[in-house]
Amino acid sequence: MEQLMDISHVSYSYHTMQGETPALSNINFTVHKGDFLAIVGPSGCGKSTLLSLLAGLLEPERGSIFLYGQKVSQKGNRTIGYMLQHDHLFEWRTVEKNVLLGLEIQKKLTPERKEDVLGMLKTYGLYKFKDARPSQLSGGMRQRAALIRTLALKPEILLLDEPFSALDYQTRLTVGDDIGSIIKKEGKTAILVTHDLSEAISLGTQVIVLGKRPAGIKAIIPIQFPESASALERRNSPEFKDYFNKIWKELNENE
Ligand code: ADP
Ligand code: MG
Repeated sequence: MEQLMDISHVSYSYHTMQGETPALSNINFTVHKGDFLAIVGPSGCGKSTLLSLLAGLLEPERGSIFLYGQKVSQKGNRTIGYMLQHDHLFEWRTVEKNVLLGLEIQKKLTPERKEDVLGMLKTYGLYKFKDARPSQLSGGMRQRAALIRTLALKPEILLLDEPFSALDYQTRLTVGDDIGSIIKKEGKTAILVTHDLSEAISLGTQVIVLGKRPAGIKAIIPIQFPESASALERRNSPEFKDYFNKIWKELNENE
């Protein structure tokens, strides 16, 4: 498969008045088109830092990050979509105005792009709420709206930083599966940071296990399920437990 991103020997430290905090140490991996990488690791190990580097919001101290052979620069790359724990929908705008916001800001709101986004609202069951305010939506619908807003910009890659962790357990399960299937249906490449191992296994094509800060890669575990298997079918399959134990072991080894 076509290589999309190359992360090579990346290290990063924060420098503050209190001194230096090494966050990442010698990170290497590649992302291919259509991959869904799930990154797991202990809290505070450097997962969000890694996504900020991939998004071009931070510059690596050592090493390099390339997207289609071009350096992801600090200017921020327009073809990278970034979705966070909080959906950042604006209450003073309708759902439609919210999902069009990115295009509006980037001055790319053509009639075709608008049609495209309204089509996604229809496909993913939000069209009848297009004139509603974000507070009238359920937590799951809000995350879906946030995803459509991100997809509206047609990103090459989606970076998701614990986007479901603000939801309660049951909602998280359904919303996680729902968002995962939308990303798959749209044929997008994604990198998901999560501390939920089950979420990682039920959505990922590979799970990258990070160690304690400064995080290095402890293991990259390919997850193999039939193409057609839904997240729920993955969760109920006999292999699921084996993957879980394998990742759990990697996470807890020498700690
Ligand atoms: P994670 O997302 O895995 O929980 P982070 O990437 O947010 O971890 O943080 C990794 C480490 O870097 C933590 O020890 C955190 O305190 C530190 N850190 C994060 N952001 C900053 C910052 N802006 N300045 C200084 N230290 C930071
Ligand atoms: Mg984080």
